[in-house]
Amino acid sequence: MKQSKLFLPTLREVPAEAEIVSHQLMVRAGLMRQLVSGVYTYLPLGYRVLRKVQQIVREEMDRAGAQEISMPAIQPAELWQETGRWDAYGPELMRLKDRHNRDFVLGPTHEEVVTGLVRDNLNTYKKLPINLYQIQTKYRDEVRPRFGVIRSREFIMKDAYSFDTTREGLDKSYQDMYDAYTRIFTRAGLTFRAVEADAGAIGGKGTHEFMALSEIGEDTIAYCTSCDYAANLEKAEVVYKSAEKRTASQAEMEKVATPDVKTIEQLMNHFDMEARQFIKALVFKADERFVVALVRGDHELNDVKLKNIVDANVLTMATEEELNKLGIPLGFVGPFNLPEDIEVYADFAIQDMNGAVAGANEKDYHYKNVVPGRDFTVKTYTDLRNIIEGDECPRCGGHIAFARGIEVGHVFKLGTRYSEKMGAKFLDENGKEQPMIMGCYGIGISRTVAACVEQNNDENGIIWPWSLAPYQIHVVPVNVKNEEQKQLADSIYEQLQKEGYEVLLDDRPERAGVKFKDADLIGLPIRVTVGGKAGEGLVECKVRKTGESKDVHVDELLTYVKELAASLQ
Ligand code: ATP
Ligand code: MG
Repeated sequence: MKQSKLFLPTLREVPAEAEIVSHQLMVRAGLMRQLVSGVYTYLPLGYRVLRKVQQIVREEMDRAGAQEISMPAIQPAELWQETGRWDAYGPELMRLKDRHNRDFVLGPTHEEVVTGLVRDNLNTYKKLPINLYQIQTKYRDEVRPRFGVIRSREFIMKDAYSFDTTREGLDKSYQDMYDAYTRIFTRAGLTFRAVEADAGAIGGKGTHEFMALSEIGEDTIAYCTSCDYAANLEKAEVVYKSAEKRTASQAEMEKVATPDVKTIEQLMNHFDMEARQFIKALVFKADERFVVALVRGDHELNDVKLKNIVDANVLTMATEEELNKLGIPLGFVGPFNLPEDIEVYADFAIQDMNGAVAGANEKDYHYKNVVPGRDFTVKTYTDLRNIIEGDECPRCGGHIAFARGIEVGHVFKLGTRYSEKMGAKFLDENGKEQPMIMGCYGIGISRTVAACVEQNNDENGIIWPWSLAPYQIHVVPVNVKNEEQKQLADSIYEQLQKEGYEVLLDDRPERAGVKFKDADLIGLPIRVTVGGKAGEGLVECKVRKTGESKDVHVDELLTYVKELAASLQ
């Protein structure tokens, strides 16, 4: 492609609305433009990259045996009412009406459509398993669209749905997708981790999120520095090891006046004790009942773990009003004298405490010398806290560290959640009707492009990995008015294209400085500069990633480029 003709509006200035590097660079390097908050147009360069991601995804999905289809963005409300998500999805769902006043949605995902499709057209075990996928535009009215196409309101997703006859079948379909995703993100040049995420009631290894590691990621990942264990903070298991042995002699529990001493900080000052010596008690409303959760003062309660253990659909912190009704004073909550129907759940670490301080459930009082088990009873000791850096790895005993990640992909075992609600059944070998067992698998195509830029850049611009680069080689004649340079550059451009490379020729009559700045900003993997030594047949070959450059004779250029290309793939 000749750059003089290319629609490539680059910018020197950093766009004001762009908070993070990838967003800034994607706008500055002329990959995309915003139409309205969270909605973007892809310009030629950006669209090429997007298509490269799509191509990799397509190849790997096909290789895994999935079949490509294309479903509509416009979906009737009735489908969403069948699964209850018309109400449950909330304001993120883009709703619209047609001229007959019928309700529709712009699809944020396609479980309803695909389950309906399969229900109506496939009903025997002989045709199962099947995995259907599409690469298609999704709509989500995000509360806070930001970071460019990382969190946008219109975006491109690859979504796949598997239908199996057995649980084991689902496990296999899931593993196939997990493996395909690993290949996809590896080919896309991302540094990523597959992390165990919370699957709610399904539990077990029901879901993994593929996270591109990045400082700007919204999710914290706990990972092992020795093995490949990684999990979301909400999910990461804490290994319980009895740390302290209780001494036999124990002082009696004693009530202490603590007016206005409520927070752990205040308590530490008041008692001159460490955070780990206090018991933090929190009251939650779990559906229609109330529960108390206990964690050590230096730990953080993990409400997802609590929600799973109490098996609640909705878990919320009790409000002050609710506490008042229960006769529990805010700031002095403790495991004593609670209304009888309130169960106490405690983190494992609580059972090792000895001589702790805990709220007395009475305004302005705490107890000291508290011994769990002796002074109060607990329904269940379980893993209730957030993992922290330095904790033991639940798989190999190594150490846990934290990183931040951008969710680029998600694999999920759905089970029969949708097939039961929508009546997607098949006849088994015995002619008996069974609900299909489903999985769903998403990849944020546009988010993957942004994550790639976020991971691959320097102060001068983008550094494309070979696999996603919009073009692979940038041929830059320094002065196009110089006939010698122009001709040599033209012939190199032709030659490289003939060899099958994707080449961009900067044939613009611009100053050298401008051209080089643009070249670095756009960030193609190899730059071939044709300048002053053109007369001797010498050109400069430069690798964007390493900055390494070398003068090469045109006769050896192809061989050299081939070597470079091989080292960059
Ligand atoms: P998030 O937690 O980031 O909101 P999600 O868990 O709601 O994402 P899924 O429903 O799992 O997303 O969608 C599959 C994939 O689609 C995600 O892994 C992500 O890569 C991408 N994605 C989701 N929401 C957006 C968005 N608003 N903009 C761009 N990509 C998105
Ligand atoms: Mg997700």
